[in-house]
Amino acid sequence: MRASLSGICLLLIVTACSGGTVALPTTVGSPSTTVTTTMTTTVTTIGPTTTSSTVLATTTVPRPLLGNTVVIDPGHNGMNWAHPEEIGRLVYIGNGSKACNTTGTSTSAGYTEAEFTWALAQLVMARLEDLGATVVLTRQDDDGWGPCIDERAAIGNRNNADAVISIHADGGPESGRGFHVIRPADTVGLTDDIYEASALLAVAVHDSYMETGMPVADYIGADGYTERDDLGGLNLSDVPAVFLETGNMRNDEDAVLLADPGFRDTAAAAISAALVRFLAD
Ligand SMILES: [Zn+2]
Repeated sequence: MRASLSGICLLLIVTACSGGTVALPTTVGSPSTTVTTTMTTTVTTIGPTTTSSTVLATTTVPRPLLGNTVVIDPGHNGMNWAHPEEIGRLVYIGNGSKACNTTGTSTSAGYTEAEFTWALAQLVMARLEDLGATVVLTRQDDDGWGPCIDERAAIGNRNNADAVISIHADGGPESGRGFHVIRPADTVGLTDDIYEASALLAVAVHDSYMETGMPVADYIGADGYTERDDLGGLNLSDVPAVFLETGNMRNDEDAVLLADPGFRDTAAAAISAALVRFLAD
């Protein structure tokens, strides 16, 4: 009888851990056969088992990105607008020159692209780190300016990143909806070394981001893809890199999504799933 009570106690504790509600059976069997749980659960009983118990539950979390370095490049910066000379300085991008950076766009309600990309980057970083990745951001806050696009690319190269994702939101026509992924063009001596891997990364990001409910862009590219040879962040990268234009901030339907914290969380989940697909599958 004593052994049976102990078994009942253990069963109740384990079912509580797994979150299920299980009616107490009249005959108690082994917990491992009567309890269905997807967690790996360790039960340690301390003290007199018939009067009190302490349960330590440990969950084995898959960490498929262990050993991978991901650089997240949140587009623009919150105070770029206050530094027109610095961000207007031309930098060399491998096949020409371009402004160090730009202010980015905003929704009609005034939610800025810089604030959005910063918020989304934080969410993506947290998810990737939970999956075991080493994550490096190209900027450390949203109240400064820069860095320039050549430096953003250099950060990916210096860290020997396994993947770089630049997060943006577009300033397209008000009538145009949707997201698109920008991959580097195949430019000899510049991006020919990362062209194929970046195209695969683009597919992973595209296919995962489709699941957020944001449609593919109907005003640019084809089926949510474009290829560019005029972006310093892609041209100067020596590691697989893409830009994700997460939606069109100038379109009111897209803007509602982009400004919604719930959507941003969904977007972060999609981006992190894309990196698992690209790096771990
Ligand atoms: Zn942008």
